[in-house]
Amino acid sequence: MAISFMDLKTQYQRLEPEIRRGIDAVLAHGRYIMGPEVAELERRLAEWVGVKHAVSCASGTDALLMPLMAHGIQPGDAVFTTPFSFIATAEVVALLGATPIFVDIDPETFNMDPAKLTPAVAAVKREGRLRPRAIIPVDLFGLPADDDAIMAVAARDDLLVIEDAAQSIGGVYQGRRCGSLGHVASTSFYPAKPLGAYGDGGMIFTDDDDLNATLTSIREHGQGSDRYDNVRLGLNGRLDSIQAAVLLAKLAVFEQELSERQRVADLYAAALRGVTPQTIPAGYRSGWALYSVLSDQREPVMAKLKQADIPSVIYYRKPLHLQPVFRHMCGKEGDFPVAESVAQRIFSLPMHPFLTETDIQRIAEIIATKASPPS
Ligand SMILES: *Cc1c(COP(=O)(O)O)cnc(C)c1O
Repeated sequence: MAISFMDLKTQYQRLEPEIRRGIDAVLAHGRYIMGPEVAELERRLAEWVGVKHAVSCASGTDALLMPLMAHGIQPGDAVFTTPFSFIATAEVVALLGATPIFVDIDPETFNMDPAKLTPAVAAVKREGRLRPRAIIPVDLFGLPADDDAIMAVAARDDLLVIEDAAQSIGGVYQGRRCGSLGHVASTSFYPAKPLGAYGDGGMIFTDDDDLNATLTSIREHGQGSDRYDNVRLGLNGRLDSIQAAVLLAKLAVFEQELSERQRVADLYAAALRGVTPQTIPAGYRSGWALYSVLSDQREPVMAKLKQADIPSVIYYRKPLHLQPVFRHMCGKEGDFPVAESVAQRIFSLPMHPFLTETDIQRIAEIIATKASPPS
């Protein structure tokens, strides 16, 4: 059977009765918006992640935007983040008129390098044009960023830390689950994420009671104590009941799937030759949204895989400071050399719970073979 990059079909085959039952229940009770499934998902995920509050929302992008709105991030504010992420991480900052300030990454974990964060904050303060307000570390490919080091920098300047856990639900940092790091965390239920719905969705996690209340208000057009009382600008930021029902069915097998992903990652680590996998430091666990490796021969290796009908994908080909939308606003070529170098060498191999040892051996063998001469 062909190897797929992320096998959502097999997952559906296994969960079909539960998923259909959940969707049918929503169709029967008719509370399509903010139905009981939404509250149950929030309660269950808050408990699982280990935080007091979970606020579901319409996407992972909204899950990042809403805490920034709640904290009044505005033009003139600087928000520190990584140049090696999905566009949404920096986009939300710019949408509010604030300025993303990129901080280069670690060459082995591909996450924000905390040693470069301190000088970046100092440079913004010295220049005096922008006010440092927040940090958005990303748990790239599922691997948590170095939360203790980032929180220490944040504490010195009273900066808000928003953990972008869009890819990392299921990851663990020093005994704490991703989603519980920083002051507030955001995740995504985009179908391709490890805990994915059948449409868009997201969730925000926090222990802060006041922030929870503000986020709940922002989600409903800034509603006040009653529905027709609007006290701030907000969004239509809700998660659909049907998506919550799908997620509840998937949550029942999520831990099992996580351990299968870990099994696959361990098999890769043992079998792969000639490419360098993302480093998982001691005390960290990845949620394995993606299994990514570095190679100086990326294009030929990917071509060999393609020839063998094995999919591989480049995340991310272009660091954010070189995206046309941010070019010249947030940096230029050469400003973040580690991110630029990683972007030229990285690619991701198939990763999902249903890969077999035979699949992994085959992928490793193809990567290790010499490229066949052009015919
Ligand atoms: C997917 C993703 C997002 C955005 O999530 P959506 O649900 O697609 O809006 C944000 N940050 C990172 C790192 C992501 O991977």
